[in-house]
Amino acid sequence: MTTTVARSPQVTDFELGPELQQFRTFVQGYAREHLGGAARCDAEAKFPREAVQAAAKLGLLRTTVAKEYGGSAMGNLASCVMLEEINAHCVSTGVTISVHNSLVNSLLGKWCSEAQKRRWFPKLVTGEWLGAYCLSEAFSGSDAAALRCEARRDGSRYVMNGAKLWITTGSEAQLFVVFARTAADRVKGISAFVVEKQWPGVSVGKKERKLGLRGSPTTEIVLENVSVPADCLIAEEGQGFTIALDTLDGGRLGIASQSLGIARAAIELIRDTVAARKDAKGRPNASQAEQWTLADLASDLDAYRLLTWRAAILRDKGVRCSTEAAMAKSCASRLANRAARAAVTVLGLDGASGATPAERLLRDARITEIYEGATDIQRLVIARGLTSPA
Ligand SMILES: Cc1cc2nc3c(=O)[nH]c(=O)nc-3n(C[C@H](O)[C@H](O)[C@H](O)COP(=O)(O)OP(=O)(O)OC[C@H]3O[C@@H](n4cnc5c(N)ncnc54)[C@H](O)[C@@H]3O)c2cc1C
Repeated sequence: MTTTVARSPQVTDFELGPELQQFRTFVQGYAREHLGGAARCDAEAKFPREAVQAAAKLGLLRTTVAKEYGGSAMGNLASCVMLEEINAHCVSTGVTISVHNSLVNSLLGKWCSEAQKRRWFPKLVTGEWLGAYCLSEAFSGSDAAALRCEARRDGSRYVMNGAKLWITTGSEAQLFVVFARTAADRVKGISAFVVEKQWPGVSVGKKERKLGLRGSPTTEIVLENVSVPADCLIAEEGQGFTIALDTLDGGRLGIASQSLGIARAAIELIRDTVAARKDAKGRPNASQAEQWTLADLASDLDAYRLLTWRAAILRDKGVRCSTEAAMAKSCASRLANRAARAAVTVLGLDGASGATPAERLLRDARITEIYEGATDIQRLVIARGLTSPA
């Protein structure tokens, strides 16, 4: 049996190179300048349009696109570094950028033809268009192969009918990657398409009211007799499921990084509170329980960041990283939940009341364990990776 440890390269250089350190400082500057409105986005369930537009202007919507198509080709590791910084401030901006870069741009770059890339990348790399990834349906979440949306071939086009649910950026995106059934076979009958919002029959349905990530619009996308030109099929008919799963490996790195950002923000709140606890003589006076909480969370944050970066480095090398990405997402998302819960506990009333971001972090963290594969599904992916032949 081959284990992932044996398969993985020996990652001994824990330092980011100078270029990535510079990039991180650059993104920190963007976050300080443009992501101060996270609390308002959450309270008003308002899409952070200005923040996303500013990110586009600064080139943050093109990190996973090759240079010949207008991208910066910085790759998955750089995207992870960027997304941790952004999500430490605003998860709604973070998930918009994560989906655009890691679920849409990455997919197009890997699976689309030259002509397709030349057609859509100019709009996507500049942020003129945002992208959305449409896999889930009413009866198809964890069991993605159960999807029912249909694309029936009719000469030089497909006629698409169905409804996609829980689509991130649904009301703001102009380009949808849609997974639809082109044949009866449960897995090999699924194909992937690009669908443009402007086409007749494409509409945005109900917007979900959510626990967290409230500034990120999550909507239904309704497809009624949509005429999809055959040249909008991605790769071959029947390859959709492979494309969906391969893309999710990258997407999970985005959500792992989002989770690290949330965890970091929560740990910083705990650290500041613990550091400020003083006795009557001004000496440090945090309880041992608080210090242990802080120590454990901070240690896990560093460990899971390395887990996330390992998977990103593998993906940047073109090595399959399903197991490693699932490890990163399941560990980091559970940490985000633990850290946010601890922040509410340690901060007490200030944690629960909205006087600090702690309660928002707790609500946002919960979603990281659901989307792009629930935690239980990640654990299945890891177990399968460890028990199946390489
Ligand atoms: C905020 C948000 C944004 C989203 N954005 C998108 C998007 O942009 N595009 C998109 O396509 N989808 C999106 N989704 C959908 C998301 O991917 C699904 O919610 C997710 O796949 C889980 O599916 P489900 O909600 O139907 O839960 P279910 O599949 O019903 O699972 C519920 C629970 O059952 C358990 N479970 C299910 N199956 C198994 C199993 N085989 N083994 C063990 N336990 C199991 C798990 O504990 C799981 O948490 C989004 C969801 C949310 C909450």
